[in-house]
Amino acid sequence: MGSPSKRFSVLVLAAIVAPATIVAVLGYVSLRQWEGSADLLFREQARDVASMAAEKVEMVLRQREDAFLDRLQALLSEGASSEPALDALLAQFPLIRRLFMLDRRDHLSYPRTGRNDDAVVFGRLLQEIPPGLRARGGRREIVVGDQVLLAAVLKARGEPVLVAFSRDPDVLRRDIFETTLGGLEAPTIIAVLDSSGRPVYSKASLERAERILTVTFRGGLPGWSVAVYLPPGASARQAVRRQVTVFTGAFGVLLVVIVVGIVLVWRLMRREAEMTQLKSDFVANVSHDLKTPLSVIRMFGETLEMDRVPDETRRGEYYRVITRESERLSRLIDNVLDFSRIERGRQTYDMARTAIEPLVRDTLDVFAYPLAQQGFKVETRVAPDLPDVLMDADAVGQALANLIDNAMKYSDARRSITVAAARVGDELAITVTDEGIGIAAEKQGKIFEKFYRVGRSETQGRRGSGIGLALVRHIAEAHRGRVTVESRPGEGSRFTLWLPMTSHA
Ligand code: ADP
Repeated sequence: MGSPSKRFSVLVLAAIVAPATIVAVLGYVSLRQWEGSADLLFREQARDVASMAAEKVEMVLRQREDAFLDRLQALLSEGASSEPALDALLAQFPLIRRLFMLDRRDHLSYPRTGRNDDAVVFGRLLQEIPPGLRARGGRREIVVGDQVLLAAVLKARGEPVLVAFSRDPDVLRRDIFETTLGGLEAPTIIAVLDSSGRPVYSKASLERAERILTVTFRGGLPGWSVAVYLPPGASARQAVRRQVTVFTGAFGVLLVVIVVGIVLVWRLMRREAEMTQLKSDFVANVSHDLKTPLSVIRMFGETLEMDRVPDETRRGEYYRVITRESERLSRLIDNVLDFSRIERGRQTYDMARTAIEPLVRDTLDVFAYPLAQQGFKVETRVAPDLPDVLMDADAVGQALANLIDNAMKYSDARRSITVAAARVGDELAITVTDEGIGIAAEKQGKIFEKFYRVGRSETQGRRGSGIGLALVRHIAEAHRGRVTVESRPGEGSRFTLWLPMTSHA
């Protein structure tokens, strides 16, 4: 048995475990790579989206501001820059919150009546304006506190005029960010952060969202940036990780199935090997069992044939031995034949109402001589007034004979056998009790299996074929009954054949 199971282990290792391990490792490595590259790709895409969003915002902002500056320049060129005209222009551009105009000597020419906070802004503005802007012309963003001012040089009757304006943050949010970024379709959340990193605008709630990257504006909103956030539970890494979990789970299940399969196949193989062993033991055991009575018959036959026994009583005894041994022989052969019929599913039973007491007596009679000769004390206790029971009398007789045969075979010094029959509830219980070697508890479940024999050391070398009890069980079950055993090693055994009596009640 060692070598086939060794071969099986090697086969399992080579054909299943090794490839499964390779697949697991490869799968894991490629999933890790995939996880990495998915993350990278996702970041690239997010960066593209953010840059695009920033560009779009800058463009729209610039368009609005250019439109305003164009209109202002037109007013200046026409010399129509009176305060009411400028007020009216500002009213048309809600984005422009405050407008300042400076003359050549940096005097505020608009608004003539400033607000309280204008002085600060205006003062800072003058400090921040780069020297030469007026001469060079153009436009420049200037950060004053938390505001961004846009300074530009316009012309009024040939003279440069410096204008600066601030933006209305609400309008910026509502008209610029909302209209440009609101329609952007993405699994991510786009937000605009001010120069101190606070979100000024976001398309959806940023609660528990994870910021993955920011792209700063190039112009228009210095220090501000567009940020991309991931809504909770939406990261590419998490998605991949979910896949990894699913893959690992599926692989685990597969592995379990494989392992269970291997174990089942291995057990099947082991059973098969055991069966083969049992069968070959069976052949040897049966041959031996048959040989013993045969050689006795032959020996006595030959002795008688040679007329060496002058004594009449001795001769009579020899004849009885021959008869008894041939009965034993035919019982053994019946067992084997019945067993093979059962195995092929060909066994049939002739059911008839049978009186119990005569059945027990007849069966015991067959054993009367060997029982007496081997010094057995036999007790029979058949309950009176037992009704007849529907059964195949030959089969039940054979089962009982097997039980008595075993009781004799597995008895030691205490040679006492009790055969009893009684009604227990709805069942007829036929028991055969001995005071022999007994059976260990863990073996009691197995002795009814075909070919099973308790180890030779425990049965002290008693021969047998291992089919006797299998046959008893089969006969019991064919009668819708059962067979049970109670036994203690060294104390004895009690086998009970339970047959239903319900058909008689
Ligand atoms: P066998 O031909 O070996 O007797 P059986 O099927 O009749 O085959 O019995 C199976 C095994 O059960 C036996 O090998 C023996 O070890 C055990 N056995 C059966 N009857 C008894 C008994 N009365 N006392 C002890 N052991 C028993």
